[in-house]
Amino acid sequence: MPMPLLELLLVVAGLMAVIMVLRAVFGVSEPAQPTDDLGTERVCPRCHEVNPTHARFCAHCGIRLC
Ligand SMILES: [Zn+2]
Repeated sequence: MPMPLLELLLVVAGLMAVIMVLRAVFGVSEPAQPTDDLGTERVCPRCHEVNPTHARFCAHCGIRLC
């Protein structure tokens, strides 16, 4: 007995999985933490540690931030 509805659900689930993988690969998920340069944080270019705006050196690895 064929079950076209089940097959359709499987196809939809497969497409959703592919979309999730693509979004994970290309990093287009929801921007939970906007890290623009004019914000209130300084993201270390080396270790990506989030430092305060007034920080001149990274609190984690010590690289100069400005
Ligand atoms: Zn750092």
